[in-house]
Order: sequence, then structure tokens, then C-alpha cells
Amino acid sequence: MRNWTSKSIAVIFFFASTVASPLTLLAQAPRYDLLLKGGHVIDPANHIDEVRDVAVFQGKIAAVEKNIPADQAGKVVDVSKLYVTPGLVDIHYHIGHGGAPLNWFAPDGRTHFLPLGIPADMALQSGVTTIVDAGTAGADTFLQEKEEVIDHARVRVLAFLNIVSNGMQGGLEQSLDEMDVNLCSATIKKYPDILVGVKTAHYWTNLPWDAEHVPWAAVDRAIACAQLANVPVMYDFWPRPDRTYEDLILNKMRPGDIHTHVFAQQFPIILPDGKINPALTQARARGVIFDVGHGSGSFWFRNAVPAERQGFVPDSFSTDLHTGNFNTVSMTSIMSEFLAMGVPLEDVILRSTVNPAEEIHRTELGTLSVGKDADISVLELMKGHFSYVDCGDARMDGNVKLTARMTIREGHIVYDPSGLSMVEWDKARPQYFTIPDRGNLPPATADDYPRN
Ligand SMILES: [Zn+2]
Repeated sequence: MRNWTSKSIAVIFFFASTVASPLTLLAQAPRYDLLLKGGHVIDPANHIDEVRDVAVFQGKIAAVEKNIPADQAGKVVDVSKLYVTPGLVDIHYHIGHGGAPLNWFAPDGRTHFLPLGIPADMALQSGVTTIVDAGTAGADTFLQEKEEVIDHARVRVLAFLNIVSNGMQGGLEQSLDEMDVNLCSATIKKYPDILVGVKTAHYWTNLPWDAEHVPWAAVDRAIACAQLANVPVMYDFWPRPDRTYEDLILNKMRPGDIHTHVFAQQFPIILPDGKINPALTQARARGVIFDVGHGSGSFWFRNAVPAERQGFVPDSFSTDLHTGNFNTVSMTSIMSEFLAMGVPLEDVILRSTVNPAEEIHRTELGTLSVGKDADISVLELMKGHFSYVDCGDARMDGNVKLTARMTIREGHIVYDPSGLSMVEWDKARPQYFTIPDRGNLPPATADDYPRN
């Protein structure tokens, strides 16, 4: 009852003061909902790389300025000694069932592949606010993915549509009948808010060619779909004598198309003489995009480290997170690997925010521009002895590590495991100590700031 009484008094006071002096009330109302104070802001899209305060109002970025007064915000979070960046954008992630039947584990299941998808919101714990599913679903399975996962996720979820209508893990990825160009493009046009491109993957990697399975069938159909839908293609590719990597990146791929898994073992990134393959530079000059897509089988230091030393850093960093690797890979672990190789932090942020946003033609993302959705990542750069692993079970030692401390999505604090934005428990307001067992009591929280 005590809470209700005080609330009633507050309501009466609110109306009384409104009637008495609306101007006074306006002057006292916080201008911002949230103020991140004292952090080092890196916002490559706006060429900001210095200590600034970031203010949020009604889910949007309201100001990125020096010394915004703390009394202008309802909640102030001290982020000094930390980095404040746009919410990270991971363009290679796996959600949902894809083509795997719902009874994939049962003896009578059509196929028995474990679905690739992991919970979409796991991305938030790495500072990621936008993920792009990389073709787990195709035209026939996309709606299930949308209703099951995308529509309920806190993280923003976009997707590349698999050229294979059934998608991944359904046992139909090698069927040309499944690669329906018109169905694929029509589906992308129907869901332009979600679908950002076409994915081709895993096609005919080692069996002999036959009348149906000609070398470029999947690539050609993905490109045909992308041309109709006016979107980029993301390629998961396996080179063979009749289907070389150089042919892919110099002849097949169009400007703006994305080669993911660039440092996988199967690509001739480093030539026998130790030099980087000149085809990579030539492909870049014609607008081809290179993406990390780390995964559980697509990242080898013996490609990545010599490439970085010769100045070749992938345009975008992405995880390829799925059920087979979520224990070891994260967006921040990949960013840390490149930091440990010597790539400057501002460059690492660029390739994790504005670059991937541009690649999927979503330039409103990956930036802290005023007026955009308040998707923000608070990161800590640690110095010490750290080690990283690749997909060949080799280790690389380094002396830096990047970790996510807080993630903000549309102004909501959706990840804050160390309580950067929270008060110490014994200084919390009385409401925090209430036991919410009487129906109408307010929740026992230390503040009212939206956190989910
Ligand atoms: Zn993948």
C-alpha cells in the first residue's frame, strides 16, 4: 500500500505542477533518456574518433557531442575508459531450422542433420545489434524462419535467401530443381525489409560432374536471381580444376557481390612463394567484396596472417555462428584476432559496422548519426596475454582483446552483464526491495529503464 500511496501523491503532484507551471515542468524534464558519458567514440561513418558523450532519446541517437551535462538525461552511464561504437553488424549468422525437418532427430526424419540455427539474441552479448542470416532458409522455408525467429528477436535480423528453396540441412542442397530463380527473386521482392541478398553454398564440392551438376550451376542461378531482385550475392564456394577461385572473383562475381569465408583453407590466398594472390587485388579493384565468415571450417591463420602483413584485410568481419561453433567464435573474438595481428582499432570497427552495412545496402545501420536507431555497442579493450585459435586447431598469441560490456538496441539496454548502467544493490530505491507477490505491486527493479 505504501507504494500505491506514494504513487498517487506523485500523480497528483504531476497534474498540480502541470496546471501551475507547464514551462517549469518542461524545463525540468530530462532532454534525453540515456547519456553515455566519457567514452571514446569511434564512429567511422562520421569520422569521429575521440572522447564524446552519446545521448539517446526515444530510441534514436539524439546527440554525439563533447561534455553533454549529466542533468539533461534521465539515466547517465559512466563509460569512461571504454569505447562507444555503432552496434556491430554481423552479416554471416545462422538462425532457425532452414531445411532441417522438425523431427530431424527421429529415426523416421527425412534427414538427420542438426539444424544450424542458434538463438538470434545470442549476438547481443558480443555487441552485435544486427545479424544477417546467411541462407539458412530458402524460399520454401523462409516464412518459418521469419515467424519462428525473426519476428521475435530483440536483435535486428535480416537475411540472405538461399538459392536452394529448401535451404540448408534438408538434404536438398544439391538438387538443381530446388534452385528456382523466379521463386527466389519473387520472395526477396516480397520481403524487402528483411531479405538483403542471395546465398549460394556447399554446391557439389567433390563428386564428379554430371549432366545435371555442371560446375557453375549454383553460382549462375544465384546471380540470375540477384539480378532480378537487384541485390548482392554472398558466395560460399569450393574451387575445383573446372571451377577456379580466380574465375569466381575475376569473372563471375559482380561488383558488390560478397565472397565469405575468404581465409578458408581451400582458397589460394597465399601463393607458394609467400606472396598474396594478385587476383585478390584485381578483384577488389573491380568491386568484389571479401568477408571473413569465420565459422568452424573457414578461417586459417596461415592465410589470414600473411595476408594481413601484406596489407590485405577483409572488407567485413563476420562470424558464421551456428550450432557447431558458438562456444569458440564471436564477433568480438574475430575483431580481437585482427587487432592482435596489428590492424588498428578504428579499422577493426569500420569493418564491423559501416562496411558490412554498406555491403547489404543498409547505410542507415552501422553509424551513430543523429536521428538513426540508437543501436550502440560499448566495448573494452584489454591489454595482456591472450591467445586465439583457428579452424585448423592452431593458436595465435596476442596482447590485446576486445570484449563487449554493454549493448543497446533502439535505446533499450539489452546486454549489461557487469551492471554498468545499474546502481549498487544496497543503494537501490525502495521498490527494488518489494516482493512482487500481491498482484499489483510494481516490479522489484532498481530502475525503470527499459532493458529488453
Ligand atoms: Zn554459414
